[in-house]
Amino acid sequence: MTRQVDVLVVGAGPAGLAVGAELARLGAGSVEVLERESEAGGIPRHSHHTGYGLRDLHRLLTGPEYARRRVDLATGAGVAVRVETTVSGWAEPLALDLVSPGGIERVEAHSIVLATGARERPRAARLVPGTRPAGVFTTGELQQAVYLHGETVGSRAVIVGAEHVSFSAALTLAHGGSRVVAMVTDLPRHQTYAAFRIGAAARFRFPVLTGRSVTGIRGRARVEAVELTDAVGHIELVPCDTVVFTGDWIPDHELARRGGLAIDPGTNGPVIDLSLRTSAPGVFAAGNLIHPVETADVVALEAQRLAAEVARFLENGDTAPPTVPLRVKAPLAWIAPNRVGPANGSPPVSHFTFRTSQFVNRSRLVVEQDGRTLYEKRARPLVPNRPYSLAADWLPLVDPSGPPVTARLG
Ligand SMILES: Cc1cc2nc3c(=O)[nH]c(=O)nc-3n(C[C@H](O)[C@H](O)[C@H](O)COP(=O)(O)OP(=O)(O)OC[C@H]3O[C@@H](n4cnc5c(N)ncnc54)[C@H](O)[C@@H]3O)c2cc1C
Repeated sequence: MTRQVDVLVVGAGPAGLAVGAELARLGAGSVEVLERESEAGGIPRHSHHTGYGLRDLHRLLTGPEYARRRVDLATGAGVAVRVETTVSGWAEPLALDLVSPGGIERVEAHSIVLATGARERPRAARLVPGTRPAGVFTTGELQQAVYLHGETVGSRAVIVGAEHVSFSAALTLAHGGSRVVAMVTDLPRHQTYAAFRIGAAARFRFPVLTGRSVTGIRGRARVEAVELTDAVGHIELVPCDTVVFTGDWIPDHELARRGGLAIDPGTNGPVIDLSLRTSAPGVFAAGNLIHPVETADVVALEAQRLAAEVARFLENGDTAPPTVPLRVKAPLAWIAPNRVGPANGSPPVSHFTFRTSQFVNRSRLVVEQDGRTLYEKRARPLVPNRPYSLAADWLPLVDPSGPPVTARLG
């Protein structure tokens, strides 16, 4: 069966729901948001702590409260939110194949927005050797086990990673009745804000072991210990029954890859310009698929602004101005958006977001093209896994027929 809708949005997290609601408000025709889970809302649905909604909804909510509010806003605006519906592939450049309890379906659209989110790199993808016992999670899996399924998750946990989400994992473990015995990072310091670290230190009293990598997991049926190795090869065993791998985000980019969209080597999400257009005409991308990861309010505001761009496309067709790639040099890890040109109209994204892979105390942020400096400014001290923004006022200087633009530290 083939159906037609005006806009298909894949993923009913904060990004998909926000772009859907705004498209409906703008009168962009029929808008359908597709979600593979049994409930819409994305990650906030199982992220029970508070900290959601400040910038977009102007109130402080828990994750589930925020998810419900976003679903209500979308359905209230007239969006059809369909759960238990997985988009399995592309039939045409603007037609998707769907699988749901009702069967297999093909839907054609005038425009498609991918908002499939990001996930933490699991143990297998981090190539951590050792046995394969039970008790190994990512934060997302841990939250689903504790908050959605009420499962017990062991009594002594090691958290791998020391960024914001790692401290969020500590809260979930406490809720699930597990004590954190250590947090481990291969970086020289934790990467969260001082207030989070001090709060966690006062409440939980676990050590943050820095400069160590997890080089093995031991245990038969259940985890019994993790093996840590420091920079000079010294090995220690930390007894525990639970290991939580946190952070190290990868965009959920399988659908984008299947559609043949260009993928940015830094973010690993689809390449996007400042209007959040991908390399395929009529296909846009939003949320943590394009920048792994920002907070839900940032994602929702950006997705909301994308709606006007999609509406413009529905009215005028593809009017993408010429652009060139924007790349980063180490220690910068990635930047988004990652295609730039001098004439981007009034794009939904007014600045760039970037990450570093190392701590850098004193540096200058330089943007250049073909030996020409387009932008140069002293950078704040940079911490890995924290979001930083770069102004976009240098865009008129980009030569759209020139080589790629590069952002680096000088
Ligand atoms: C542990 C943790 C704590 C956090 N704490 C905070 C916080 O305190 N405050 C805050 O603002 N943010 C927080 N965040 C970040 C916030 O959750 C994300 O910014 C937000 O969820 C991103 O929204 P998204 O729509 O891009 O992706 P997601 O929320 O991941 O939603 C993507 C959706 O797409 C669906 N999907 C994917 N592929 C398909 C497919 N092929 N077919 C159909 N559906 C598909 C997924 O099932 C998912 O529901 C936290 C995140 C984590 C993991």
